[in-house]
Amino acid sequence: MNMRTPNADRANARPVKRRTRTFRPSYLSFAGTYQCNLTCAHCCVPIEWTDRLDIPTALRFLEDAHRHGIELLGFTGGEPFLYPEFVIAVAKRAAQLGFRFDKIVTNGVWFRDEAHLRAVLTDLKNAGFTGKLGLGVDKFHGIRTADLVTFCKTARQIFARDNILSLAYASRDPHVGLEPVHMLAKALDAIVEWSDLLHRYLLVSPDLTMTLNWNHLAPVERAEKLGGDWGDVWFEEDYCEGPGQALIVNPRGDVKPCCGFASDLDQLTIGNIHKHSVKQIIQRGRAHPYVGKVFKKGLTAIRAEILARDPNALPGATSNHCFFCWHVLTRGLAENVSGGGAQVGQWTGARPNFQGELVQIGPLRLPRPANSAADAG
Ligand code: SF4
Ligand code: SF4
Repeated sequence: MNMRTPNADRANARPVKRRTRTFRPSYLSFAGTYQCNLTCAHCCVPIEWTDRLDIPTALRFLEDAHRHGIELLGFTGGEPFLYPEFVIAVAKRAAQLGFRFDKIVTNGVWFRDEAHLRAVLTDLKNAGFTGKLGLGVDKFHGIRTADLVTFCKTARQIFARDNILSLAYASRDPHVGLEPVHMLAKALDAIVEWSDLLHRYLLVSPDLTMTLNWNHLAPVERAEKLGGDWGDVWFEEDYCEGPGQALIVNPRGDVKPCCGFASDLDQLTIGNIHKHSVKQIIQRGRAHPYVGKVFKKGLTAIRAEILARDPNALPGATSNHCFFCWHVLTRGLAENVSGGGAQVGQWTGARPNFQGELVQIGPLRLPRPANSAADAG
């Protein structure tokens, strides 16, 4: 029988109602530590922090997120495997709760020797982790092909899955910066090919299939000195659905709404797991003067506001959402959000903020007192 109800008829007679756009996180990710065994030139997290997220607090937040319908979990850093007891404890509880696993972002060269690697990955497998190990392979990570081969082969053997690994590479264009991946492929007896279907490269060997995820390199934080991301092409609105919607928890317990380049700026903090519940953090995100607007009206609305106020406020156009976000947040261009937070500071000095006030938003350079020791000589 195929009867249509009156309600269904009415619904068919009008356009499909669009779901209200708002901050509605569906993904949880923990950075238990920001410490790292590498110091990549493009890294945008403060790897000098020594803080570590304590495990009971993270487990409590994980359970709270589960009650709020968040079902997907990932791990990031720093190098997550420098704090393996955190990853393993959280993964174990998440598996019990029925979470699906995204990837653990790793540089894949943190282990002392093969026995160490094998022990950590075996514990992770036994904890019930069913996600991927997302290896960063590009010129910024140093090129340690032999260690990466050990990592890949050991992971393949322990997890007994050909899709246990994925790769990530940072460059200015998806088709460049693949040389270290090709070196790894050669050592694994694999090929690297573009997939029209997936719209990305794949590395395929007889017993491994890895998707390659491109990260749009942006001159932010340590990479600020690399320069050059302003051009003529503007990004297309995606309401941050690419890197968001997420609750990303950093080693201090601060929560961010996305995993974009700008997410480590204090301006994007929407709560702290030591103080706030998941419900409170989501409410705070929606009420946040910048985060609320990004997820509701989009980055293009913020861009339009800035350019309406001052057509010359931006150096050019950029196709990179998160670079734009980082730029306007560090320079105080977005309404009701103060600037600051970048590290290198090529842009230091007085600049107009969102109210047109000249503010010092880089590191302060105070004039030396006239009678200081340096002047005495
Ligand atoms: S491996 Fe990752 S966290 Fe470590 S320095 Fe490189 S980019 Fe930063
Ligand atoms: S544009 Fe900003 S808010 Fe959106 S994902 Fe990127 S860093 Fe996060």
